[in-house]
Amino acid sequence: MFKKMTDGEIGSNFIHELIDEDLRTGAFNHVQTRFPPEPNGYLHIGHVKAITINFTTARKYGGVCNLRLDDTNPVKEDDEYVNSIIEDIRWLGFEPNRILYGSDYFDICYESAVMLIKKGKAYVCDLSAEEIREYRGTLKEPGRESPYRSRSAEENLELFERMRAGEFENGQKTLRAKIDMSSGNLNMRDPIIYRIMKIPHARTGDKWCIYPMYDFNHPISDAAEGVTHSLCTLEFEDHRPLYDWVLREIEWPAPSRQIEFARLNLNYTLTSKRKCLALVQKGIVSGWDDPRMATLAGMRRRGYPARALRNFVETAGVSKTYSVVDFALLEHCVRDELNFTAPRAMAVLDPLKVTIENYPENKTEYFDVLINPEKPELGTRRMSFSKQLYIERADFMEEPVKGYFRLSPGAEVRLKSAYFITCKEAVKNGDGSVSELICTYDPETRGGDSKDKRKVKGTIHWVDLNNCKDAEVRLYDRLFIAENPSDETENGDFTKNLNPDSLRTVRGAKLESCLSESLPGDTFQFLRTGYFSKDSDSTSDKPVFNRVVSLKDSWEKVKKNA
Ligand code: ATP
Ligand code: MG
Repeated sequence: MFKKMTDGEIGSNFIHELIDEDLRTGAFNHVQTRFPPEPNGYLHIGHVKAITINFTTARKYGGVCNLRLDDTNPVKEDDEYVNSIIEDIRWLGFEPNRILYGSDYFDICYESAVMLIKKGKAYVCDLSAEEIREYRGTLKEPGRESPYRSRSAEENLELFERMRAGEFENGQKTLRAKIDMSSGNLNMRDPIIYRIMKIPHARTGDKWCIYPMYDFNHPISDAAEGVTHSLCTLEFEDHRPLYDWVLREIEWPAPSRQIEFARLNLNYTLTSKRKCLALVQKGIVSGWDDPRMATLAGMRRRGYPARALRNFVETAGVSKTYSVVDFALLEHCVRDELNFTAPRAMAVLDPLKVTIENYPENKTEYFDVLINPEKPELGTRRMSFSKQLYIERADFMEEPVKGYFRLSPGAEVRLKSAYFITCKEAVKNGDGSVSELICTYDPETRGGDSKDKRKVKGTIHWVDLNNCKDAEVRLYDRLFIAENPSDETENGDFTKNLNPDSLRTVRGAKLESCLSESLPGDTFQFLRTGYFSKDSDSTSDKPVFNRVVSLKDSWEKVKKNA
């Protein structure tokens, strides 16, 4: 299951087997898919799975995939969401063949409804929403037929026309499919296919005051658009009989085929637009693109590469069974990608000043260091070195515990790519805290190796105090402490599962000078501390870096224990 796929091609899976079968039997002679989000929020990691499946399946079979924004509900439409969806899909690396809307098919839906009425397969019902619910029955009890079920086709046509003309109020009448009130599938108990909503629509304006329900619009949009395989998540499995019923009854010549797959669930993560919206509205996060959010906008700002996300859903696999994927796998994919793409740099997050006693005053020398040891062909960057440096406060211990190989009085360590230094003295503040280390260096160890093959056990990172840049660094932890943060119980409040330490802001970090030229979105490996991406909050005076992910991979451990 965790085999790594080649990038961009989702491994063969049960969906492809079904499609192969359709092509073999001649049910279809080509393949077309669509990704159909509702523009009521930003896309999240779960959508990456649906997007990847739809686009790569079309590509595999030489077909196309459209983006179709499901705007059947006029209330929820929002331009901000539409734009973010388009941007996110492109950023992920996919280009929709066409950008369409569910509302593009309102005319066909209307004509189809009229056809159903004429065939005696749909009727106008006067029951209220509450009554319809009551009449529907339960899984154990059959439903009861509406008293309006036997209206004649003529009467229904006239009433439906008057619904359209705005003669009735919201909720006063609905159009229902006439299927089977005793069906074991509640979706087949005369579902509503049209409702009155006297609300103008973002795209169709006030042309309509009746709107098709999703379950009616969706199969018709698929078919009218030429979609052959309508790939969706498992919660739509119970809707498939209705999907098929609609296309059969409107006598569509080449009805699309719906195939369901399991949703992507990720532990410690919310994958629901509604709940993500709540996080934004309650001010728990700074916005949809807060780097702690599992939205594409958030993950992009955090510094997750698009390729890592695609690899992640490919590695997690496509199946029909419910599962929860470990967050560690996502981080593993991010590291895997950044290890090859992220230039290396040094940054000291919690600086402690070091003065090299025997290094000449006013001298600066330079070291040429590989930009990325995984890709030597990228060449080198230049680091400066002088008498004063910064190292990480945690790399010094006055009384070292057993197994501590970094700096302590009398101990020698390697400054990565530079020299060996030995600590002579810790200078202290009045309160006993260490303010500075006085060290010596061994000029014979230039480049980080001693000529007499003397070994040091510790290698630490550093920056030149006289040539570095102050920065703010934001360290993130998971947003939730509960494995399944989405509390679905009555009055469930997922905010009680929030991690109070999901963001730690470090001010006064010291960056290697090469980082001054970086742009928002540029991602680096800061030696020993993790991968960091320059945030859009950066100014030329004050760069801000987000920690994308730490260097330690817990995934290998998770896999071993599995
Ligand atoms: P949400 O509950 O977050 O609003 P949704 O299913 O309502 O999600 P849509 O915008 O309707 O979101 O989804 C567009 C497509 O993405 C649908 O085909 C849906 O099945 C799919 N999708 C949504 N969430 C996931 C997920 N977690 N894993 C895989 N596919 C998903
Ligand atoms: Mg939805």
